[in-house]
Amino acid sequence: MDGSTTPTSAPVLILLGPPGAGKGTQARMLEERFGLVQLSTGDLLRAAVANGTDAGKQAKAVMEAGDLVSDDIVIAILRDRLTDADCVRGVILDGFPRTTVQAEALDTLLAENGQRINAAISLDVDDAAMVDRISGRFTCGTCGEGYHDSFKAPKTQGQCDKCQGTDFRRRADDTAETVAARLDAYHAQTAPLIAFYDAQGALARVDAMGAIDDIALELGAIVTTATA
Ligand code: AMP
Repeated sequence: MDGSTTPTSAPVLILLGPPGAGKGTQARMLEERFGLVQLSTGDLLRAAVANGTDAGKQAKAVMEAGDLVSDDIVIAILRDRLTDADCVRGVILDGFPRTTVQAEALDTLLAENGQRINAAISLDVDDAAMVDRISGRFTCGTCGEGYHDSFKAPKTQGQCDKCQGTDFRRRADDTAETVAARLDAYHAQTAPLIAFYDAQGALARVDAMGAIDDIALELGAIVTTATA
């Protein structure tokens, strides 16, 4: 990060990393700590599928196969969401951009609003560990809190720590076969963004194989510096 330009408006942070790297978990922690808004294109697409919108209908099979949804659809969904009032607090992009076309579209969109990216943070992990991480994960269907069979079980079995909800969900695409396709898509189409943001002087890298709280501390320090 060169820190040479003062942001003119709300912070924009990007979390990069393969499926299972912990982007969602860390984005939610940053959201709570810094009052930023987590924007997950995966969540937005899953909502579009659940609501049966045109975009959702087009995205459903692609997501189930573990491939990337077309740039046009994803960029349109994100552009729309960025116009919501809460985004003036600043955003953490989780799962977007995933292609160079999306990264360039984001730069254009931000420039139109007099904004820029404060930091693109790559969560670096070993691929081999990702299948275990993903296949054990589930979320509270009421408040969205994330859990894991081995690494982060609810304190009381069957009950959400945060909202005491009892309706837990596992994602349809969190199967071993789909995870392999998602990892391939990451390496082929998303990993090149590490060099893209490095060239912009916006890249930070974090070893994301450790404990969730340690990674959160490191990320918090990066965000504090990047948004100062
Ligand atoms: P995620 O919740 O981020 O793991 O995303 C779940 C699925 O949604 C991905 O495997 C893709 O099929 C799709 N998706 C999410 N974000 C994007 C994006 N930025 N570009 C293309 N496809 C996406």
